[in-house]
Amino acid sequence: MPVSNSPLRLYVPDDLGVGLTIPLPTDQSRYVVQVMRRTVGDPILLFNGRDGEWQGEVERADKKATTVALSKSLRPQTHEPNLWLLFAPVKRTATDLIVQKATELGVTVLVPVITTHTNKDRVKAERLTSIAVEAAEQSRRLTIPEIRAPIHLTGAFTNWPDSHSLYVLDETGTGAPIAQVLADFKAQQTGSGAFVMGPEGGFTETELDLLRALPFSTFVSLGPRILRAETAALAALTCWQALCGDWCSSIE
Ligand code: SAM
Repeated sequence: MPVSNSPLRLYVPDDLGVGLTIPLPTDQSRYVVQVMRRTVGDPILLFNGRDGEWQGEVERADKKATTVALSKSLRPQTHEPNLWLLFAPVKRTATDLIVQKATELGVTVLVPVITTHTNKDRVKAERLTSIAVEAAEQSRRLTIPEIRAPIHLTGAFTNWPDSHSLYVLDETGTGAPIAQVLADFKAQQTGSGAFVMGPEGGFTETELDLLRALPFSTFVSLGPRILRAETAALAALTCWQALCGDWCSSIE
C-alpha cells in the first residue's frame, strides 16, 4: 500500500477508549487536512502512551478543528524496558539525531547532561519533544520518551533508582567491550539500564573519576575508534536492544 495512503498515526495526550471522539489540536488538524489531505471517514491511528493504539475515523475535517471518532483498539499498552540515555548536548543537528534515533531505539528517558566540555548548556525542549513525538509516531512506538531538563553531570545521579545500571561510554579505552558487559547484564536479569556519554570534547579526568566512583557504574568501550557522539549513542543503544533489549524477543 503506498505510504501516502496508509493510516496516519498520531500521538495525542487525551484518554483513548471505545466510543470517544478526540479533538486534534490546530497543528495536527492542519497537518491531517491540509498536508496529508485526509477527509471525513479516513482512518487514523491514535496513541497516548497509556491506552495502547486505537483506530478511529475522521469525523470532522477542518484545518482548525478536526475530530477523530474512535472505533476499535488495535494494540494494548505493553511494558517496555526502562532504558535511559544521558547525553551531553552537541551541535543542533547532531543533538536532533541523537533524540530521533534514541526514540526509534526505544529509549524511555533522555537526560541532557552539562559537562565541562559541553558547548551548549541549553536545549530547545519543545523542539526535541516534537522530534521525539514524530519519531515515536513513525516507529509504531506506543509511548514517547520523557525528555528531562538539562542537569549538570555532578547532579545527574542524585536519587538514582535502585537496580538501574549505569554504563559509561568511555572512549579512553578503560571500558570493557560492550558485548561482554551487556551479556553480564542480561545474565543478572536486573532491572534496567542507562548509558551516559560525553560531548565532542569527551569527559574530563575529573568527570571520569566521578563516574568511576559511582557504585552502579560500569565503564564500556565501543571499540578502538573514536566515535562522534551521535554515532556512539546509536551504537550503544543498538547493542543494548540486540543483546538484552526488545530485539531479543519476537515482534508483538
Ligand atoms: N574525547 C574525544 C574527542 O575530543 O574527540 C571523543 C569524544 S566523543 C566525540 C563523544 C563521546 O562519545 C565520548 O565522550 C564517549 O562517551 C563516546 N564515545 C566515542 N567513542 C567511543 C568509544 N570508542 N568507546 C566508548 N565511548 C565512545
